Amino acid sequence: MPLSHRRMPRLRLPSIRLLAVCALAPALVGAQSTSDPRLERLKSETARAIDARAKLAQQMVDQVFSFGELGMQEVETSKYLAAILERNGFTIVRGVAGIPTAWTARWGSGKPVIALGSDIDGIPQSNQRPGTASRAWLVPGAPGHGEGHNSGVPLNILAALSVKEIMTREKIPGTIMLWPGVAEEQLASKAFFVRAGVFKDVDANLFAHVDDEFRISWGDEPALAIISAIFKFKGQSAHAALAPWRGRSALDAVMNMANAWEFHREHMELTQRSHYVITDGGDQPNVVPSTAAIWFYFRERDPERVTKVFDDAKQLAKAAAMATFTTLDTVQVIGSAWRPHFNRPIAQAMHANVTRVGMPAWDEKDQQMARAVQRMMSRPDSGLRTGIPKLRSPEEAAAASAGLGSDDIGDVTWTVPSVTLYYPANISGTPGHNWANAIAMATPIAHKGVIAGAKVQAMTLLDLLLQPQLLVEAKDYFANVQTKSVKYYPLIAPSDQPAIWLNAEKMEKYRPAMRKLYYDPTRYDSYLQQLNVVYPAVQDAVP
Ligand SMILES: [Zn+2]
Repeated sequence: MPLSHRRMPRLRLPSIRLLAVCALAPALVGAQSTSDPRLERLKSETARAIDARAKLAQQMVDQVFSFGELGMQEVETSKYLAAILERNGFTIVRGVAGIPTAWTARWGSGKPVIALGSDIDGIPQSNQRPGTASRAWLVPGAPGHGEGHNSGVPLNILAALSVKEIMTREKIPGTIMLWPGVAEEQLASKAFFVRAGVFKDVDANLFAHVDDEFRISWGDEPALAIISAIFKFKGQSAHAALAPWRGRSALDAVMNMANAWEFHREHMELTQRSHYVITDGGDQPNVVPSTAAIWFYFRERDPERVTKVFDDAKQLAKAAAMATFTTLDTVQVIGSAWRPHFNRPIAQAMHANVTRVGMPAWDEKDQQMARAVQRMMSRPDSGLRTGIPKLRSPEEAAAASAGLGSDDIGDVTWTVPSVTLYYPANISGTPGHNWANAIAMATPIAHKGVIAGAKVQAMTLLDLLLQPQLLVEAKDYFANVQTKSVKYYPLIAPSDQPAIWLNAEKMEKYRPAMRKLYYDPTRYDSYLQQLNVVYPAVQDAVP
């Protein structure tokens, strides 16, 4: 449909600038996407095509759930997902940005280039029997999908395959690029993707992240910028009883640094968040530790402030070494992220599609599952959400947010116009990064949420392919509102390299036992069936 057939005139730049500071402005751009009959027809068609792939949705979600791989070790996950795309005519580039489990999958030709991304990594110790409202390990101690990152790339694949069919038949120009968020939990890949030029010809990026709501916001996300780094100290080993005076304990330096950080915390701005674990505390008590390491996450509102917090930590690390007659060996940056900022015109178009698709049709079993999990977590048993929140401004998103995390999609959002689609495939009231968050993720709750999310992703992809003006506005917002005064720079130094060794030992330890429980779709209709789970496996019923 030619542009002249549009119902309303497009907003020019000064109006967009004005809207950016007015939370109550009407969503003109998104509403306008309903004006093109051909686009409308193709959107309905893509929704039907996604419904027709419900079996594939279930298989992919269950399969990746059963892999349960941690960041940088998403070996089976990446092999499986990239193979599906390759079989469907996508060109795969593996080992992107020097990260073995990273890849891109491209199909189509020419402009525009639209990227679809989502995370793929799991959470330590969140291995859990799905569909079961009690703590039930499948492999004790093993990782699992205690956030729901098993669902996002399957969602993007459903969207991409259905839109690809339409593009082929209708001869619509453009390129679709799928990509996985590797090691999101360590914020360890996306700044490296940006540095490696993964998005250099990309016009817009649609990200997808699991949630319990169908929510879209624009502008600054209620999230913090982050730098994560491991501080390694070197001492001198000695017999801890016979000759302790000949030793210099690297663990003393680690503990000194942590202690100094706790004193320093009193004098930091209240907006910072920092936390640490000791990843090397020595081998055994009768050997003075000659090496020790402490891993910090530093979070603050913006890149400048988080850099200052990191600089403070480096100074305290040097002081801790000096005070213990040890040396600060290395400071290795593991991950980093900018606070995400979502593109307003694309968010408006996407939100219109969310409204059009609507919430998944939960049935009574899904609601029983959700209520049982909520009771188990001592939360109100309100069940799964059924309503859709309105498009949120930055202020509304902040008001609706329960806490402040970080997400390395931030760096991508400051590189190319981007929006994250939060799709409803999990249960509200779960603590996050927890085994309870895995319960729904290989059940009909996740399958239905992924199908609904895929429809929105596909429809927004069609919006971007068929409405050149939407991309013009998205780029206008990006250049003249979002990055007008804020210019992206990486928080990683040029010498920093991806921490591709992360989680290797943990996965080596658990993978053999987990492998025996990988989902076998040739033998079982669902992973629940393979595990003999009668859905929903809930212990109690509230009278
Ligand atoms: Zn996540």
